[in-house]
Formats: sequence, structure tokens, C-alpha cells
Amino acid sequence: MPPKVAESSVVRCPHCGRNNRVPRAGAGVPRCGECRESLPWVVDAGDEDFAEVAEAAPIPVVVDFWASWCGPCRMVSPALHQVATELAGRIKLVKVNIDEAPETSRRFGVQAVPTLVVMKQGKVVARRAGAAPAPVLREWVGDALAG
Ligand SMILES: [Zn+2]
Repeated sequence: MPPKVAESSVVRCPHCGRNNRVPRAGAGVPRCGECRESLPWVVDAGDEDFAEVAEAAPIPVVVDFWASWCGPCRMVSPALHQVATELAGRIKLVKVNIDEAPETSRRFGVQAVPTLVVMKQGKVVARRAGAAPAPVLREWVGDALAG
């Protein structure tokens, strides 16, 4: 069994620098306790909690299916973090390790990593495979949100 993931993580506010505790799931979009700006929402999910963390999220979700042995995933991860920071309050980035979440990966038909999926209210609205730089990913996510 994979280790149980923490219920929250600490995120540094890109606006004022304060550290904030951000829950992995829940109906509220996280905001900074100091300056009230939206915080980047980047969390992990596995087979047991994907429905709660991703499908029930109150804002659109970008799912990053990745693996520890995948070189391009190490390039796409910081790019996605940048997109999640730029689009704070508008998207939630959910990272799924395919080796620890085989059921979810199978359900989404993930055949290569990284595979990225945009979901709105639990429904897939866009997907792509392979690495890309942050500006390309940001445009892709923006198009998916607008579409
Ligand atoms: Zn702040």
C-alpha cells in the first residue's frame, strides 16, 4: 500500500511570502491568511482519494499523471507549478503518481507519462501527453477553461 498522504500541505504565498496551510480537498479555494490573495493549489492524489481531491474540486482541475522514472515529467512538473501559480484561484493542480494509483491511471487510459488532463466538475475537457514549456501549457489550460 502506498503511504497515506498528508491532509494538507504548506504553500508559500507568492504575493506576500507568508506560509499557509492548504487542504488537499474541500469546497473552499485556498487564500492567503495574510493578504487574502488566491494561493497556488497543488496537491497529490491516489486511487482512494482521487474522487474527493479531483472530481469533487470546486474549480477546474489539471491532473498530472507522472512517474518517478520519467525524465520529461521532471521538466513538466516545474512548468505546471508555474501555471498553477499564474492561474491561482482558477485551477487546482492534482499530481497522480501512476505507479501508486494504477486504478485511476487505467480509468483515464494513461499510456504514456506525462499525461495531462483538464477536468471541469469531474468531466474531462482536454488531455495531452508529453512535456511542454510553461507558456504552451498555460495557453492549453486557458483554452480548455474557456472552451
Ligand atoms: Zn499572501
